[in-house]
Amino acid sequence: MLAQRTNLFRSSGTAAARAAAKAAADAGVEIVDLTAGEIWSDLAPTIRDGAIEAIRQGVNRYTDTIGSMELREALARKVSVETGQLWRADELAVTNGAKQALFNVAMTLINPGDQVIIPAPYWTTFPAQVQIAGGTPVHIDTRGNGYVPRIDDIQRVITPLTRAIVVNTPANPSGAVYDAETLSGIAQLAMDRDLWIIFDECYGPFTHDGHRHHPVVSLTPEVRTRTVIVNAFSKSLALTGWRVGYLVAPKELISAVKALQSHTTSNPNVVAQHAVLHHLREGDGAFEARLKCRLTAARQAGLTALSELQLVPIPEAQGGFYFYLDLSSLLRPTLANDDARTADDIVAALLAQAGVAGVSGTAFGDPMGLRLSYGVPPEQLEVGLERVVGVLNGWNRKNRRSKRNRRA
Ligand code: PMP
Repeated sequence: MLAQRTNLFRSSGTAAARAAAKAAADAGVEIVDLTAGEIWSDLAPTIRDGAIEAIRQGVNRYTDTIGSMELREALARKVSVETGQLWRADELAVTNGAKQALFNVAMTLINPGDQVIIPAPYWTTFPAQVQIAGGTPVHIDTRGNGYVPRIDDIQRVITPLTRAIVVNTPANPSGAVYDAETLSGIAQLAMDRDLWIIFDECYGPFTHDGHRHHPVVSLTPEVRTRTVIVNAFSKSLALTGWRVGYLVAPKELISAVKALQSHTTSNPNVVAQHAVLHHLREGDGAFEARLKCRLTAARQAGLTALSELQLVPIPEAQGGFYFYLDLSSLLRPTLANDDARTADDIVAALLAQAGVAGVSGTAFGDPMGLRLSYGVPPEQLEVGLERVVGVLNGWNRKNRRSKRNRRA
């Protein structure tokens, strides 16, 4: 009945996890929800003031399809500072969040049959959008290398059909922050093998423990002609609901995005554009500093709670605001325990036994992973992680017991 294309996508795995948590809460179960891809925070005062001012002025008309010129100029200045290179307004398009920026990129860059390399575990939307555009996602497993792809592994999967590689650093869900050497290696490969880099740096401001975020174009300026930078204010200003993102790319690609967006959404919401412009002009960085401080404290408290884990390694959580647990020690089938399970079982047990909602790695192409967000209020994080530790350590005991029984 529906178009065949609808077989290519389902509602995103993270949205499904959120929905399961909500259903349990609606059924009267007290749930600690650690699924969120957003930060619990108040609204930045500059955003609020910018929006109020825009409404008072009575703004109500379309802006330029890819965002007002003032906003694009302000964003071009921001990106110039961040990358150490000059960018102009015609190399930039404002979108309804990073998700639409990525969708625009998929539709303007990928031909049917093209392959796009996506390191796994990956944020669920990357492969879905590639498929909607008619392309084929090609995954490389990064689990044996701290969730960062090895250059050799990338090289091995490149074919004449490879069109692009997705680089998401700091990464969702793993929190891995790609080191400069890896990024320079990817840039060199892109130039040698004629590939585009889709560089998603939505979590750029959130790096921890001495890890630094490097825009790939700062490390290798020559890769700029084949790189699309994707970013948004969703995470950096805790502004997910306002839907302001942008992409930065060569002018020709931006023109194609402009044409596409003129047929899909027209401009991003005008009030939100004004709010972000006001923030870029008037913000003094204090809000961002507070947000980062809050996340740093939550991460520290969370790591202390997780240090009680017995078999599951403590996550590195280098960037972003997720703890990504490797559950393979609890799940790996062994001779003594051959009933293969996935993180889905543990996520279901967490919800049923402990009232904690997390996202199974199966949503990210990794059946051994568990993503827990620490962008939540501190008291929820404390209760939630204590329960997670209880269930995972109990899982351990249960497994050991059943193995002992089988050996006996
Ligand atoms: N990229 C990554 C890696 C993300 O995790 C997300 C949101 N979870 C997005 C893009 C989309 O962000 P936005 O809300 O700005 O569309």
